Amino acid sequence: MSDESQFLCVVAPCYNEEEVIDQFYATLKEVLNSVHGLNHRMIFVDDGSQDHTLERLNALAARDNAVRVYSLSRNFGHQIALTAGLDAARGDAIIMMDCDLQHPPALIPEMVQLWRQGHDVVSAVRKATENSGLLKRGSSRAFYGLINLLSDTPIVSGAADFCLLSRQAHRALRKLPERHRFLRGMVSWIGFKRAFIFYEAPDRPAGRSKYTYFKMLQLAFHATFSFSITPIRLATQLGLFTILLSLIYLAYVLTCFFRGKNLAPGWASIIFIVTFLGGVQLAFVGILGEYIARIFEEVKRRPLYLLKQRPPAEEPALR
Ligand code: UDP
Ligand code: MG
Repeated sequence: MSDESQFLCVVAPCYNEEEVIDQFYATLKEVLNSVHGLNHRMIFVDDGSQDHTLERLNALAARDNAVRVYSLSRNFGHQIALTAGLDAARGDAIIMMDCDLQHPPALIPEMVQLWRQGHDVVSAVRKATENSGLLKRGSSRAFYGLINLLSDTPIVSGAADFCLLSRQAHRALRKLPERHRFLRGMVSWIGFKRAFIFYEAPDRPAGRSKYTYFKMLQLAFHATFSFSITPIRLATQLGLFTILLSLIYLAYVLTCFFRGKNLAPGWASIIFIVTFLGGVQLAFVGILGEYIARIFEEVKRRPLYLLKQRPPAEEPALR
């Protein structure tokens, strides 16, 4: 393939970003123009913003033919907005990034270079966020520790959703239909040849983070439950362990009885029955959970998002 024919598509979800959108566009455009032998397109997904983000984006699209604007019918959340963008994206390589300049566009040439050297997934990994609170850094570290303990798919700490996907990796990622999306994990799950580059995340130039602690907690829950069945296994194992303990206790009580030790009448049998039944119930709740988890995997049939605006004509219909 000649370099001239290479086509890069950048996907950026935006939610109430009117203050940074123009600056982001200008920076990105400059970087993209500087990369040799690469045509580009920028796909902005407005995630149901309540401010003037959509108007700003439409103004950009009117000015620049490379800009495509999609708008979701309401706020569906970062991960879904990103998914909508990935569905709309076409090209030899796709880059997904935040539009608040915390994912520095300056890294793009290096990512493209690694892709040209044959990597399918190039993830930019954040080293530290300037001024990000101790709580945010601490909770992030704890989260990655936990998810890697529980899940079979290793997820690199600090690898946020800033990455480049080859055509093949992009196609693979689009095949994952789950509702509770955790793209960082999904990007690890698909495999392929992966490279990492490291950067210091700058502070937001304007606007504020939409990830409240509650939203981060929600993302952590989605990540845990979509990438691991360990919690439900734990219930089963805990149940079996409780049954074992109660049986040991029964053996102890019986030994005492036959040796003629005096135990309060009725006490032993009540304790045994309570612990034994507790264990059995917990084990079966766990087993039920295993089935529910499987049904849950199967019933994800709703569309992930709805569009209220898409670029005019020429574009192949999305859904
Ligand atoms: N975002 C979105 N929908 C949301 C929340 C955020 O599309 O409901 C976008 C946001 O515009 C930004 C990116 O997701 O481009 C990351 O969000 P943010 O900067 O608030 O997260 P943080 O960097 O603080 O983790
Ligand atoms: Mg941000």
